[in-house]
Amino acid sequence: MFQNRNDIKPFEKKVWLSSPTMHGDEQKWVNDAFDKNWITTAGENINEVERIVAERIGVKYAVALSCGTAALHLATKLAGEKLYGQAKPNCGTLQGHKVFCSDMTFNATVNSVAYEGGETVFIDTEYDTWNISPAALERAFELYPEVKLVVIAHLYGIPAKIDEIRAVCDRHGALIVEDAAESLGAKYKGRETGSFGDFGAISFNGNKIITGSSGGMFLTDSKEDADKVRKWSTQSREAAPWYQHEDMGYNYRMSNIIAGVIRGQMGHLDEHIAQKKAIYERYKEGLKGLPIALNPYDVKNSQPNYWLSCLLIDTDAMCPQKRTDTEATYTPVKGKSCPTEILETLAKYNVEGRPIWKPMHLQPLYNMCPFVPDYVNGVSNDIGADVFARGLCLPSDNKMTIAEQNVVIEIVRRCFE
Ligand SMILES: *Cc1c(COP(=O)(O)O)cnc(C)c1O
Repeated sequence: MFQNRNDIKPFEKKVWLSSPTMHGDEQKWVNDAFDKNWITTAGENINEVERIVAERIGVKYAVALSCGTAALHLATKLAGEKLYGQAKPNCGTLQGHKVFCSDMTFNATVNSVAYEGGETVFIDTEYDTWNISPAALERAFELYPEVKLVVIAHLYGIPAKIDEIRAVCDRHGALIVEDAAESLGAKYKGRETGSFGDFGAISFNGNKIITGSSGGMFLTDSKEDADKVRKWSTQSREAAPWYQHEDMGYNYRMSNIIAGVIRGQMGHLDEHIAQKKAIYERYKEGLKGLPIALNPYDVKNSQPNYWLSCLLIDTDAMCPQKRTDTEATYTPVKGKSCPTEILETLAKYNVEGRPIWKPMHLQPLYNMCPFVPDYVNGVSNDIGADVFARGLCLPSDNKMTIAEQNVVIEIVRRCFE
């Protein structure tokens, strides 16, 4: 229960969850686009960011698109076309087919399956990384052996159990779409996320670890796939003297202005990761002794990008909390707290936090879809719902000062008094 001792004043300047951090190089490349009058969806900035990102992630090709959602859509469409053949206009490549998806994630991860007419089957989360559970995925293949596509995300910049997931998918001959929108720069066994899937996607949305204000990329080692996605993203024009179309297209290409911002940001990716890591470590130290844990990762094999620091309250330290579809309430209890209390208290001090992503199988949009739970000690569970109930994202802005973070830590501590 929060104890206000009147010695903490609300921040005059809001402490953000994760806001853009510009350095100057971004403006230089935007100006370059203006100077050369490449104010369009082509130009040197686009070519350069595609080259820099592909090199960084260790894939042969990166295709610059308008957003991460567009990258996921075209990745999913391409996977569907490979598995089930070309779709007719107005009919997605996944029409009538089931697809396994991460359950606890941002809705963009799974909307692509619906864009292509597929039927999502949500796979439960595991506690070790808060990502898709390989055990639940294996069970899902027992229930739906016909499935050939799995869409996975790396939540909050922490790599999923990639080796286990890949082994399950290989055993069942399934392809992987890898949503690395939140995990740009994170590594698993020394290799960058975004390079593990058969098709990868990243995002440069405004609150990601680096940003172009918007933007995203499709990642692949296949020239043919890169060419196809680039063509789809520019309305599928055929090589002809006029606008000739054999295939349905989209207007998904990245702008050369936005590419200029990203070109400037890429040189600061490692610096941002180091700052986010320091924030995570300070929370870990500062919140010691409380009945909480930070979002966990595989210390041996993973180097997260620490995009957001999150915490999970121990079950027996939770005060009663109720959530309807649109509202949250709680009952204060001495010595206990809950995400709603912590988030409301942080907001009073002009600090932005956020609930954990509400699992997709609990969303009104998708709650009719099948959900395959994980099993803990032989008991069927719903780990996503549990992490959603007990977890929250702490402010993780790389411009937050140590003094500001110490106040945030003190506010959280007082919630447990
Ligand atoms: C941000 C995000 C996306 C979408 O990226 P946009 O660039 O905003 O379209 C997709 N998946 C996850 C997990 C995200 O966090």
